[in-house]
Amino acid sequence: MPFASEKTRLLGRLSLILVVGFLTTSIASYLVSRNSIRSNIAEQALPLTADNVYSEIQRDILQPVVVSSLMAQDTFLRDWLLHGERDTAQIERYLQEIRLKYGAVSSFLVSERTRRYYYGGGILKVVQQDNPVDKWYFRVRALNAPYETNVDYDLANRNTMTVFINYRVVDYNGRFLGATGIGLTLDAVSRLIDKYQQQFRRRIYFVDPQGTIVLAGKSMRDTRGSILNQPGIDEIAGQILNRTKVPSSLEYQRDGSMVLVNSRFIPELGWYLVVEQDEREAMRPINQVFLLNLTVSIAISLLVVTITLFAVNRYQRRLERLATIDALTGFLNRQAFESVFGKMIAQAARARQPFSAILFDIDLFKRINDTYGHLKGDEVIRTIAKLAAANVRAGDVIARWGGEEFFVMLPNCTQQQAVRVAEQLRHAISTYDFTLDQSSQPITVSAGAAQYGSEETTDAFFARVDQALYQAKAQGRNVTVAV
Ligand code: GH3
Ligand code: MG
Ligand code: MG
Repeated sequence: MPFASEKTRLLGRLSLILVVGFLTTSIASYLVSRNSIRSNIAEQALPLTADNVYSEIQRDILQPVVVSSLMAQDTFLRDWLLHGERDTAQIERYLQEIRLKYGAVSSFLVSERTRRYYYGGGILKVVQQDNPVDKWYFRVRALNAPYETNVDYDLANRNTMTVFINYRVVDYNGRFLGATGIGLTLDAVSRLIDKYQQQFRRRIYFVDPQGTIVLAGKSMRDTRGSILNQPGIDEIAGQILNRTKVPSSLEYQRDGSMVLVNSRFIPELGWYLVVEQDEREAMRPINQVFLLNLTVSIAISLLVVTITLFAVNRYQRRLERLATIDALTGFLNRQAFESVFGKMIAQAARARQPFSAILFDIDLFKRINDTYGHLKGDEVIRTIAKLAAANVRAGDVIARWGGEEFFVMLPNCTQQQAVRVAEQLRHAISTYDFTLDQSSQPITVSAGAAQYGSEETTDAFFARVDQALYQAKAQGRNVTVAV
């Protein structure tokens, strides 16, 4: 049926337009949001975090540098060294006081002449060139700068960072006398790293120039080893360990999600500060909005398609009705009659039931039109239709065959019964008060009736009924003739 396929095409096109439209806007807005979140993290949040951590490091390190510088320039300390390191108790007390006053983890003095390592408790040891733990001293000894910072970390407890300031002590002529300084825990830096880790789920850690993770926040304690052999980040490790590009904004894939990375070199520590954020967390709200968008879009699409389907069906039914039903009487029109007539005959033949028909025509109808006008004529046609409908059974079907001619199909009905129906109808009409002039003739109909004979064509059967009506007219009207 062409109409059905046209309907399917219409609904298909409508769905396509809605789906494409909604998908385009949803995906476009998702991508825009995602890019803006990404650039916001990469260009603002991560660099800002790195800045804060870095300035905290600088602040934490500043005080020990000042203290160590005061120690290195202290005339007592230098004189004590120059005068042969005689009274150990004196330097012990001095180092103890410094340590307590500044809340340091340790304070120390190494003499170049004796290579003794003094601390608050006395002489710890004698530093030796071939001992790896004493390496730092010989590095400081060869240093051009007045001091170095050396970060010591406890491998078992990598979330605390102890910074040693190793200051060169020189005599009044600039000759190297030894090294002194203090060690301090960078508590504030550790706290800051943990705060960022908890609040923003950012991973903050330090890697040395070889790529080894040397210090990380609490939640990363099990992350060990080198970034050079960790899947994902190994691909950008070379860029992380790149002193010239500071700070750099990078990204890599971890567990199927994008991780945004900011790396910068911290000269005070000689390490790279790496701040990373898995974008998954930040993307959650826009993912939810995207899903909501899709759900709403699907719901709206379904609603629009359903409403359209209903409207189309309603119009289709109305059109079909218009095409088959006569507006004046509500009976089948002539076009519809043709197919219904054929079907009813076929059905009766199958059921081996008698089938009869009546064709009736209003007598001298022209006169009614001429006398009372066409509107009154229409009213008469409508009234007669009502009388006809009232005088047939529920299964009977009436068609308006011509202007004022009606064809009544009577399934399971013999000719005798058909004549009885026709007579009943004729009587009902002729006695009905159409509220016309007193003087006028009553309105009557003539009817032809016949029973369908097996093997008869519909055309032949119709012709017989028509013939019967013709005879009724010929007999002077207001009669029923059966053939
Ligand atoms: P007869 O007894 O021989 O049937 O005489 P008649 O005047 O009824 O003749 P016929 O059936 O040939 O005329 C039908 C007339 O009915 C012609 C036409 O003007 C009128 N007519 C047909 N359809 C309508 C209609 O829908 N409304 C009105 N008002 N008149 C109609
Ligand atoms: Mg007539
Ligand atoms: Mg007629």
